[in-house]
Amino acid sequence: MMMRGVHMSDKRLIKGGIIVTMDKDRRIIENGYIIVEDGLITAIGKYDDVKNELSSIDETIDATKEIILPGLICSHTHLYGILLRGAPLKIKPPTDFVQNLLEIWWRVDSALTHDDAYASALAASYEMMLSGITFFADTYSGPNSITNVLDYIEKGVNEVGIRGMLAFETTERENKEQAKKGLEENIRFIKKTTKSDKIRGMYSIHASFTVSDEHIKDVIDAQRLVPAPITIHTSEGLVDLYHNLERYGKRTVERLNDVGLLGEHTILAHTVHINNDEIELIRKTNSKVAHNPLSNMLNAVGVPPVVTMLEKNITIGLGNDGFIFDAFENIRGAFLLHKVHWRDPRVISPLTVLEMSTINGAKLYGLDNEIGSLETGKKADIVILNPKPAVTPIFEKSVIGYIVYGMTINNIDKVMVDGEILVDNGQAIKIDENKIEETLLKHSTKLWERLDIKVE
Ligand SMILES: [Zn+2]
Repeated sequence: MMMRGVHMSDKRLIKGGIIVTMDKDRRIIENGYIIVEDGLITAIGKYDDVKNELSSIDETIDATKEIILPGLICSHTHLYGILLRGAPLKIKPPTDFVQNLLEIWWRVDSALTHDDAYASALAASYEMMLSGITFFADTYSGPNSITNVLDYIEKGVNEVGIRGMLAFETTERENKEQAKKGLEENIRFIKKTTKSDKIRGMYSIHASFTVSDEHIKDVIDAQRLVPAPITIHTSEGLVDLYHNLERYGKRTVERLNDVGLLGEHTILAHTVHINNDEIELIRKTNSKVAHNPLSNMLNAVGVPPVVTMLEKNITIGLGNDGFIFDAFENIRGAFLLHKVHWRDPRVISPLTVLEMSTINGAKLYGLDNEIGSLETGKKADIVILNPKPAVTPIFEKSVIGYIVYGMTINNIDKVMVDGEILVDNGQAIKIDENKIEETLLKHSTKLWERLDIKVE
């Protein structure tokens, strides 16, 4: 593809700037350089070591005084959540998590169409890209728009150009047939995208309280034949815990373990209401966790034991749960929530939340050999931040704190995926913002009308 006269296959040099690699040693390279060829990072290090040897560079990006990061990762989202932003629903305000699902989300997802799925994918992935996110894991829910819906979402994300792992969220809340249909859609899409680089499929089960053990086993069987990660909302609200205690005499994670769901390719979203025995099951099975601090606050469900899980070396990624798509707001949410919860500022560090948003997010979905850090051989998914102006010295010991304390979406200079520049000087260069607004307003207005919201 041509981009400002430069071919994707050409040799690009990013030089100057401070590189936060997030590699195994969490190396930080001051005045660094990165060579990008054929969408991959082929060299990285100190610029002074190579500046006299570099040859046949087709394009040089000067990142002096800037911060270079791996593309950020959103470990759990619902792209369609963007369609409800600000919606004045005519309902009595929900008083708890179950009412939230019943009164808001299950009404909304029943009203969703294939075109809504496309439009929301376009807008949400656009917003994520502008804040530096280059990979996300999405689960779509819509009992009346199941078959082939993942193709519509794929189309929206592809127009934006970032990476995504997509799934239909299976549930038996209305009937068992819908869960079967949803599972078929996931299998179809995973098979279709096995050779795809940017968009892939996975399995998603809504939550333990809306599915039987039989359905969970069906998904596990499908995964054996057609491998892909499985994600499930896990004890987000107390309803999960009470349901499993009443019906099975087990806590949520115990039940999931007994049915055979836990494992290194299983991502548990939320895990708010879990005890130490459940944490031990997650650790022993090397299951992964997607933490969604802003959503937990919004839905007032509680604070997950992230600090305890981190102590046990459980791999935790950071998600937005379809609420606020800006990566930096979510990073700060995770950074602050546990401090106030424990009334102890030491419980979580800036590096820990950055790990959740980069390399650990990649580990959740088995992609840590491809993305999540800046290393030779990895995909050139790169974010360049411009502090404009730097207000304190930015060097090896200060840069991570500087990012977590101070960077916002306004500091995004460039976002690259596979070495292709998608955002330059903070502006999307591949897709027209006006087209997104036009498409979105059309679909969100119609959806709101179906939800009996008068738009005037
Ligand atoms: Zn969710």
